[in-house]
Amino acid sequence: AHLDRTEAVDGAVHAYLHVAGESALSAAREIDGRRAKGESLHRLAGVPIAVKDVMTTTGMPTTCGSKMLQGWVPPYDATVVSRLKAAGLPILGKTNMDEFAMGSSTEHSAYGNTANPWDLDRIPGGSGGGSSAVVASFQAPLATGTDTGGSIRQPAAVTGSVGVKPTYGGVSRYGLVALASSLDQAGPCARTVMDTALLHEVMAGHDPMDSTSIDAPVPDVVAAAERADVAGMRIGVVRELTGEGFQPGVQTRFDEAVQHLVDAGAEVVEVSCPSFEYALAAYYLILPSEASSNLARFDAMRYGLRVGPDGVAAPSAEQVMAASRDAGFGDEVKRRIILGTYALSSGYYDAYYGSAQKVRRLIADDFAAAFGQADVLVSPTAPTTAFRFGEKTDDPMAMYRGDIATIPANLAGIPGMSLPSGLADEDGLPAGFQILAPAMADDRLYTVGAALE
Ligand code: GLN
Repeated sequence: AHLDRTEAVDGAVHAYLHVAGESALSAAREIDGRRAKGESLHRLAGVPIAVKDVMTTTGMPTTCGSKMLQGWVPPYDATVVSRLKAAGLPILGKTNMDEFAMGSSTEHSAYGNTANPWDLDRIPGGSGGGSSAVVASFQAPLATGTDTGGSIRQPAAVTGSVGVKPTYGGVSRYGLVALASSLDQAGPCARTVMDTALLHEVMAGHDPMDSTSIDAPVPDVVAAAERADVAGMRIGVVRELTGEGFQPGVQTRFDEAVQHLVDAGAEVVEVSCPSFEYALAAYYLILPSEASSNLARFDAMRYGLRVGPDGVAAPSAEQVMAASRDAGFGDEVKRRIILGTYALSSGYYDAYYGSAQKVRRLIADDFAAAFGQADVLVSPTAPTTAFRFGEKTDDPMAMYRGDIATIPANLAGIPGMSLPSGLADEDGLPAGFQILAPAMADDRLYTVGAALE
């Protein structure tokens, strides 16, 4: 049924880069056979899923939305993908994304835009716009994402779906094409809080293949979603992430959701995180710095695109690298590589990267103080609803500013959820409500989220 739905709507939505119809059907038949034999299976066995194209998958391409990896079929599965397969979830295909996960609109994909199912002239969010769009257009009940600065939560917000960035280290990064290793975190996308919890449980857990993976029990997110009771919980509204700069309709739906939590017995307090003012500046130094280093692996020698410079009969290795990186990377990727190499160059390191790391510490301290006053923090997920294609492509700063509410969680390594708060009055488009919790308290997101559904 999901493949039929894709056949019917994905010509217009363009959420998939690769549809794996045959292998999904044969995986589903295998599960049917095992079930018929009375085998005890995982409760998600047979439920199909779409995978963001940043995760390595055997037997199907992994492009990361880039020409650099066009046609590359990885020799191994990401740990997340192995876990999906082990639990019996058939993989429907790979979803579109901003190139190397850099962006908030999926317009930076080398393979064309994905449309927002609510309005095909608008963006589905990014970088994981393909994953949010498959879920919102009912092409898949579940999808995976990665969130380095909001790429699960913001797409969920603008497509009226649910997305969670787990605690840093809660889900293995093994087999994710790295963007910024100290910020990257994989997580679940779905249409309800409970579906998201069930997928979270499959994806999460310690992995010796990832040195930053946390060796501790996964918080019981499914039980937390079942609980759905916020009586006596302290909810902190982050002053710096509300009001000015947020679209009125987004703010209204946010205020109503907070009132709903009060009605359900929660106590609401206002908290202040003054260092958030510097979060965007710190993020857009740390991310390009780490990305410029991570993307050095695309050297046209080991894998990926290889082209020679025009008109050179016997090019040097350096000329091949330069020509391949010039042809293989898009403008946004080049912009960030240049920013990152500049920030890391000797003589500038302390002024830029070093200062950004200090700001990162202050942001973590702000969160620690706020979590002394509240069990969870809340804000709108994104300042606006989905914008139109092209509205921000010529103004990278405007695109970056849209990440104001999502990036503090990545800088501090804490978990966050976005879920729908309703439709904004001025445009009738979905608005997102964000919940943040202390590290390893991912379960709180699900209790509060389920109470709001
Ligand atoms: N919008 C953010 C950026 O462009 C999101 C990145 C991400 O989470 N992958 O960096």
